[in-house]
Amino acid sequence: MASVLEKEIKKGIRLHDFYYLGKDLYCEKVRVREIVESVGTPVYIYSHRTIVEHYRKLAKAFRSVRPLICYSMKANSNLAILKSLIAEGAGLDIVSGGELYRALRAGCDPAKIVYAGVGKTKAEIEEAIRAGILLFNVESVPELGAIHRVAQSLKKKVQVSLRVNPGVDPNTHAYIATGKAESKFGLDLDTAHAIFVKREEYPSLSICGIHVHIGSQIVTGEPFIKALRKVLIFIASLEKEGYAIRYLNLGGGLGIIYSDERPQTADEFAKELLPLIGKKKFRLIFEPGRFIVGNGGILVTKVLYVKQTTMKNFAIVDAGMNDLIRPTLYDSHHEIWSLEKDEKKKKWVYDVVGPVCESGDFLARDRHLQEVQAGEPLALLSAGAYGFSMSSNYNARPRAAEVLVKGKEYFVVRKRETYEELIRGERIPSFLQSK
Ligand SMILES: *Cc1c(COP(=O)(O)O)cnc(C)c1O
Repeated sequence: MASVLEKEIKKGIRLHDFYYLGKDLYCEKVRVREIVESVGTPVYIYSHRTIVEHYRKLAKAFRSVRPLICYSMKANSNLAILKSLIAEGAGLDIVSGGELYRALRAGCDPAKIVYAGVGKTKAEIEEAIRAGILLFNVESVPELGAIHRVAQSLKKKVQVSLRVNPGVDPNTHAYIATGKAESKFGLDLDTAHAIFVKREEYPSLSICGIHVHIGSQIVTGEPFIKALRKVLIFIASLEKEGYAIRYLNLGGGLGIIYSDERPQTADEFAKELLPLIGKKKFRLIFEPGRFIVGNGGILVTKVLYVKQTTMKNFAIVDAGMNDLIRPTLYDSHHEIWSLEKDEKKKKWVYDVVGPVCESGDFLARDRHLQEVQAGEPLALLSAGAYGFSMSSNYNARPRAAEVLVKGKEYFVVRKRETYEELIRGERIPSFLQSK
């Protein structure tokens, strides 16, 4: 049976805390139009409640095993969002020294930070060890050696998890599938086993965890279960050989609603996973990114021109691929809602495109929308994850502002970039300086 939320999503009148009241689009208790009028466009608008609620859903579903939920901050690393989740008890999953810096600035307890990624530099490893993070998720034998050498030079004992690649196809977009055998991520099980056998060669490391992250926007439990089964068999054989496993990190990857997906809920996910895990001794870690913030944000952009050609209607808007690259990078779909819903208006088919000088600069193609006019703002839904965090200054476009809504209030949590900020750090060499 479809839930109330599912029905409302289908009718296009609500997605979590983004909904129509009368004609007007709201985020929590704030009219989106009001934010747009004071902050301008393009602007990312986040619902504090939706974001925190998604964290809580996962924490609640797995409460019987008290997992450590490390929000994968590459999905959206705004300090206000990090702080919102840290306040709920979340740890963070980081993938760079810059993310470590942000995590610490947001006040994250280093003992709740896990660090993944195939290309950690020596400097980044050193910063993370000095900060006292919980675990490195190690992706190759040379990286293991590098972490060991840095740990040794700092006279520290460092915990590591081995990221294994279970060879599972997550049935998602090729660019976000990470657990297939040909992927650059993780270690195959034989290599991982060989590391345990040789663990004495790494006296400064405590190799005590297994990490697996098979991809992103996975909407059914099946790939997770397949991966988990393989990993549990692997762990059982390691334990038989006397290697203690203290952490099992199941990564992220839970899918969300972009158009008509029906992703598994946190409860359904827990119901499938928990029986397999039973009463194991290791601590479970999750690294959800998209699941926490994806449906918690929208991008509002303004229509600059409506251009009709013999083939198409183009709505040319003031946000481009530099603001939201997902449609062109992953062929992803974002629902587009008007700020004022008017059932009486005609519907037309539009390509919604940005101002950037690239044919790939589109936000939606062949989309049925309520007739749009120049000057009108439009909201792109489900833009909270991999939206702002993937944005750039291409075409010398200042990056968008970000706003966090909480109840009746809203807060600018990132100012719109200025032109001056665009050239910050650039230097003119002396031979080019005019006398
Ligand atoms: C990106 C990433 C995540 C988060 O993925 P989502 O699909 O956003 O949940 C988790 N773990 C690792 C190692 C990642 O690279």
